[in-house]
Order: sequence, then C-alpha cells, then structure tokens
Amino acid sequence: MRILVINAGSSSLKYQLFDMTKHTVMAKGLCERIGLDGHIKHVAEGHDVYESHAPMHNHAEAVRAVIGLLTQPDTGVIASMEAIGAVGHRVVHGGEAFNASVLISDEVIKAIEDCVPLAPLHNPPNLVGIRACQEVLPHAPQAAVFDTAFHQSMPKAAFLYALPYEYYERLKIRRYGFHGTSHRYVAKRAAEVLGRSPEELKIITCHMGNGSSLAAIKHGVSVDTSMGFTPLEGVPMGTRSGSIDPAIIQFLMVKENQAITQVTETLNKKSGVLGISGVSSDFRDLLAAATEGNDRAQAALDIFTYNVRKTIGGYAAAMGGCDALVFTAGIGENHVVVRRMVSEGLECLGMTLDQEKNKSLSGQEGIISVDGSVNKIMIVPTNEELVIAMDTQALVGV
Ligand code: ADP
Repeated sequence: MRILVINAGSSSLKYQLFDMTKHTVMAKGLCERIGLDGHIKHVAEGHDVYESHAPMHNHAEAVRAVIGLLTQPDTGVIASMEAIGAVGHRVVHGGEAFNASVLISDEVIKAIEDCVPLAPLHNPPNLVGIRACQEVLPHAPQAAVFDTAFHQSMPKAAFLYALPYEYYERLKIRRYGFHGTSHRYVAKRAAEVLGRSPEELKIITCHMGNGSSLAAIKHGVSVDTSMGFTPLEGVPMGTRSGSIDPAIIQFLMVKENQAITQVTETLNKKSGVLGISGVSSDFRDLLAAATEGNDRAQAALDIFTYNVRKTIGGYAAAMGGCDALVFTAGIGENHVVVRRMVSEGLECLGMTLDQEKNKSLSGQEGIISVDGSVNKIMIVPTNEELVIAMDTQALVGV
C-alpha cells in the first residue's frame, strides 16, 4: 500500500509518499509560496531532483501539482493517483477531543475546527490541507494524526495550571504538550531496542530540535511533558524562551513601552539560545562560536543543557525512577557535545554516558551509556512522517 503523508502550513505543504510494504519513502517534497508565485521541490526515487516555480492559487492546486509530479513519467513513482491508498495528515492540535489518531469524517473536521482557538496559526492550514486532499483524492481515506494526542494521558496534577479553575473549564487553558508523535515513537522503539515491554519501563524522551520538549513516559503512557498550553513553555529552544516568570511580560511592556504582540514576538522568535548568544539558533553554530571563545554562545549551551538536565531530574522524581533516557531530533540525534553536557551528573540516576559510544553512535539508533550502567542512555532517531503513515495504515485496516 502507498500512503501520502501531508503536513500543511499556511502557505506551504510538505509531502512524503511511503511504500508501506518496506516502510520506505518513494518521493517527498515541499510546495511553498502557495497563494503567491508558488515553488515546488520534489525528490523521487530514480529521478533527478525537480524544482519549479509554478503559480499555485490554493492548497488544492498544490495537491494537484504534487499528484502530477508523482504520476508523470519523468518525475513520478506511481502510475496513477488511484495507487495512493490513503492520506495521513499531521494536525497540530486535537485539544481534549482526541487521544489517538482518527479517520477523518465530518464530525472529526468539526472537532478540529473547534480546536482552532487553541492553535490559530496551525489548525486552519491543517484543515485546508485535509479539504484539498478530499477534493483531489476523493477515493482515498484520510486520517488525522495529532501532535497533542499522546499527552492526553497526563494526570490532572501534571496538566492543570494553578490558575482559577474556571479558566480550564471555560477556556480550556491547560497543558496539552506537543511533539507527541515523536515522543510516542521513540519511546516504543527504545523499549524494542532494550528487548522489554513498554508497560514495564519508565522512559524520559528528549526531543531536541529547533523546538524542544521532554516527556515522562511511564508504562507506555505520557505522564508529563515540558511544552504546555502552547509550544512556548518548557526548556529554552532555538528562538523560543521556554518557561520564564510571567511577570517579565508586563515589566517589558511597561519599561520598553512594547505592545503585547511585540513581547510575544520576542519570546517566540528572538529569545532562546539565539537571544542569549546573539550568534544563532543553530546548535552547530553555537558550538563553533563557543569553541572560539564566545562567552555568550557558551552561556547559551550551558543554560539549555542545564534546563534539560533539571527537567530530567524532575521527571525521574515524578515517575519514581527512569530506566532509559532517550535523545532524539536534530540535536538529540546528532549533537555529541549537547548530549555530553546534558548527561553530566546523571550518574545520580544510575546512568553513565559512555563518551566513546556517544561519539561513534552519533546519528544512529543505539545505547550510549556504559555497559555497566543500571539505567540506559540511548539515541533513537525520530520519524514523525513514518508514524503518521503507520497510524493511517492501521486505521484504514490493510
Ligand atoms: P526542527 O525542529 O525544525 O525539525 P531539527 O530536528 O532538524 O529541527 O533540529 C535542528 C537542530 O539540530 C539545529 O540546532 C541543528 O544545529 C541541530 N543539528 C542538525 N544536524 C546536526 C549535526 N549533524 N550535528 C549537530 N547538530 C545538528
């Protein structure tokens, strides 16, 4: 079976076509500048990379362009669009309505619409992508896979903020958490690599990319996570502040005469390791600058890794232990120095990093703690698109 995975943004659409017999990517690409002049980059098995500027007035036109590329002889990998057995959509926010992936129906679309106030920048384009695929690929069943769903198992103690309770009841203000597809996948893979059942393990997953979040996964279910009502909460990130004293917001508005939109923009786009270092949001650049003696780049690395380690300690305490610490995403999978800095001091949790394995296994799946380590430190590369495809296949039932 072939499954098309779609991640629709406000003016972009990312796609991957999977061959589910081998779990391989047959073709993938990105449509950008939808509604403007339009640009497509398409990479397919057995063909040269294809790039073109072609006006795409809306997402349905973008989907049509993608289907054209997937089926034409010089760029394609399938004979006709009927070869696409199902479509899986990444949907950012499922609120409290969804604790798992679902087949899309009119009721599901309505429930995703109801979550728009919780994710005003993400859910509307996700819905546009769903409608575009329904229009262009009417034969194919469609599934929605939510970033929030995996964390719906959190207990109230972890998801409620200490605000007036009516804000939760009336406005649905609570911790939702994000990156759920990634946390779920890498925790399951980690259990497989350890040859143990997820039900008997306490795992802490560190998804560290441009956006970063940690999750505490006890007996296979998420019991806490660091992102909150929005992805702004938690550890510092590339450009996001992570958790700060909320009183800073009013202080900045008064002292700097800034509007709330400006402050929010600063917290989302100009903070994190970029804000601290003044160098870059990219952790490779930070390391290069720190190695050359840039103190602020070093401070950014110190602050990031300190906060990740502190969160790990909190989650180990919350779960009453941690059998495995799992690093994933761009930084978690690849950044030797960040993993080393995060792991310093974790001997108190019965886990000791093997410095050699940390280097030699970088970028690969494996155990990077020393052989005698009671609890394990691991790298598990994430693959959110494959999880979306696998969830879709399971829902379609073939
Ligand atoms: P996104 O959240 O946008 O998906 P990624 O998961 O791709 O982000 O992570 C981007 C981060 O990963 C960047 O900070 C980058 O420095 C880091 N990264 C990517 N590849 C490497 C590498 N080979 N070595 C060190 N860091 C890397």
